[in-house]
Amino acid sequence: MQESLFPILRTTVYDRPLIYLDNAATTQKPQSVIDVLNSYYTSLNSNIHRGTHYLATAATERFEEVRRKVCAFINAADRGEVVFTRGTTESINLVASSFGERFIGEGDEVIVSAMEHHSDMVPWQMVCGRKGAKVKYIPFSDEGVLDLDAYKKLFTERTRIVAVNHVSNTLGTVNPVEEIIKIAHSHDVPVLIDGAQSVAHIAVDVQALDCDFYCFSGHKMYAPMGVGVMYGKRRWLEEMPPYQGGGEMIKDVTLEGTTYNELPFKFEAGTPSVGDVLGLGAAIDFMLSVGVETIGRHEMELHDYAVERMRDIEGMRFIGTAPHKAAVISFLIGDAHPYDVGTLLDKLGVAVRTGHHCTQPIMDRYGIPGTVRASFAVYNTRADVDAFINALNRIAPMLS
Ligand code: PLP
Repeated sequence: MQESLFPILRTTVYDRPLIYLDNAATTQKPQSVIDVLNSYYTSLNSNIHRGTHYLATAATERFEEVRRKVCAFINAADRGEVVFTRGTTESINLVASSFGERFIGEGDEVIVSAMEHHSDMVPWQMVCGRKGAKVKYIPFSDEGVLDLDAYKKLFTERTRIVAVNHVSNTLGTVNPVEEIIKIAHSHDVPVLIDGAQSVAHIAVDVQALDCDFYCFSGHKMYAPMGVGVMYGKRRWLEEMPPYQGGGEMIKDVTLEGTTYNELPFKFEAGTPSVGDVLGLGAAIDFMLSVGVETIGRHEMELHDYAVERMRDIEGMRFIGTAPHKAAVISFLIGDAHPYDVGTLLDKLGVAVRTGHHCTQPIMDRYGIPGTVRASFAVYNTRADVDAFINALNRIAPMLS
């Protein structure tokens, strides 16, 4: 499905066809996204929002058109709630820093799951460290399922915000974010969802979820690197101070002080990566042309097929076996170091990720140094899975 639209997939590595299974790290880009980047720099490049000339006006229109597209894609209530950033990491840092500045004080508490990517853990540790507040963690089971009973018990009158990923990049768990949000809201506590691993696989409706913040990266959903989104409910964004100072985020500057721009520009200081934002628009068009649910279903078929075949390999051990999963498979073979498995797979043309996947606390939880991770995207095929399994079968005897 769709593989011919992605030129990089015609690449050979070590004289073998590339089998790209590192999609949770970043997805490859369809020709339509590459074309938009090319045409932007060939015929449209200009700084936006503050120009009167033709190119500046045209680039601004295209940029704001993508904001409308993102708004519809995640069903935000209004465009002012869609802030462009560099990616999930910057989006979460923005919220942690700005929400933290306004709403987190000494003795307050923040609830974060123990299966977060470092991007959704370290910013909270940092702001809590600055403010004299405390981070409390939601534990998870051996299968990789969050313990909701323990979660409910973490709330006190000092809880200020909850931050949880929609899909774990290491365990593949799809977390019950609807329930997590409902529980937090029953305590009047807002929730940030790290959507880095979900937007490319699950149709997201931020109003139906009723989340307060939703953060994601373009590059994990077929768009260029360098662009991401921080969705936030207007009521919070209005009250939060700007994250960075600079051009674009101001209404008026005098030597005495500054008044800030309206939403979303208050949070968009400096020149954004305009071409990458336009690429994000093309990536959304691509995803909608296939259908987000179709993409997710296709990936899960490959996931289920791969897991079934992997079970036959001696010493195979899966890390993350939650009943509700996305198409991410973390595994180990016997006592082999994940790095060795990844290196041998690479020599056979199969690209997977190895290591702690920026989730060291998950590795500590299982007492392992890391995992090997295979993750699927729209363009992967059953033939890719077969090649992956054949490669595993070839290397498994070398590892024991
Ligand atoms: N959160 C999760 C769950 C992720 O998987 C990742 C990246 O792998 C991030 C956050 C950080 O995303 P980025 O590096 O694009 O900012």
